[in-house]
Amino acid sequence: MEFEFVEKKELKEKPKENLGFGKYFTDYMFVMDYTEDKGWHNKKIIPYGDITVNPSTMVLHYAQETFEGLKAYKGKDGKIYLFRPYMNAKRFKNSNERMCMPEVSEELFVDSIKELVKVEKDWIPEGEGESLYIRPFMFADEESLGVHVAKSYKFLVILSPVGAYYPEGVNPIKIYVEDEYVRASVGGTGFVKCGGNYAASLIGQKKAEKLGYTQVLWLDGIHRKYVEEVGSMNAMFLIDDTVVTAPIEGTVLPGVTRDSIMTLLKDFGYKVEEKHMHIDELMKAGREGRLKEAFGTGTAAVISPIGELYYKGEEVIVNDFKTGELTQKLYDTLTGIQWATKDDKYKWRE
Ligand code: PMP
Repeated sequence: MEFEFVEKKELKEKPKENLGFGKYFTDYMFVMDYTEDKGWHNKKIIPYGDITVNPSTMVLHYAQETFEGLKAYKGKDGKIYLFRPYMNAKRFKNSNERMCMPEVSEELFVDSIKELVKVEKDWIPEGEGESLYIRPFMFADEESLGVHVAKSYKFLVILSPVGAYYPEGVNPIKIYVEDEYVRASVGGTGFVKCGGNYAASLIGQKKAEKLGYTQVLWLDGIHRKYVEEVGSMNAMFLIDDTVVTAPIEGTVLPGVTRDSIMTLLKDFGYKVEEKHMHIDELMKAGREGRLKEAFGTGTAAVISPIGELYYKGEEVIVNDFKTGELTQKLYDTLTGIQWATKDDKYKWRE
């Protein structure tokens, strides 16, 4: 890929500890512009910094904005790896199609990330469980107030060194099953990674936090009865000997971690069922002790064990609020592949 590199004189000091998530940003960012006549052009890696927008910039009004999230890892073998970036590239393509935004080819998407990560390789933290979070995003930058598909866009990639999600070991979380608000509906944008989905979901998150829960488990948008996904994770439930998760049919985000975990589960010999599970069925399984383990899957945490589910006044404790054996095994296997301590059997490292 051809791009211009604008060098910066003074580099920032890199944070050494307490990286957290999305607090620090590296020295450079990737940017490119889209116009109908030129397509994607002006590809550059420039110093990380503010971008100015006109008050009439369309994204500020009509929210044509999409993004992705993935990580670069410094492997135990000293090499730098991305984890299945072409899956993010495909999802980004689908998001942009739904939002009437221009396509970024899978090659261009992955190349822009690889070139930027190469420039910023010294920013990949090497502490246990640390990685470099990659945030590609696109927004409509045409200046106009008419409601229409914007004619010009910007695509950027920014990088943030992030800490271990579980500095003290994998820990279960408390989940609030949301029965009032919904995140997505059939025909909507649930399968898309667009800012608007997250804006609309904050009210549920706020409510859950106020009641002492970490995240929301969303139910379907029509009946508010069928289990969909957690705030920023797909949700899986080991009931008897089967792992149940919501199907990818337009309302749930197709997680890269979800797909990877399902592959591992099948390999481990588990039955995996993608189905619309009624919340009453889930709570009943919990009550009867048949809900053996429950967990969320996503790039940030890899796996978050669910220790408690709260729905309409009833609490169900899962596995005595402890991380289950299967959950731990999945976590160890996937992080082993990501940090190159385990064989890359499925060719997921890139
Ligand atoms: N669902 C939602 C709503 C999310 O924001 C995320 C995080 N991208 C996920 C699921 C998990 O997706 P992934 O495994 O690709 O991170």
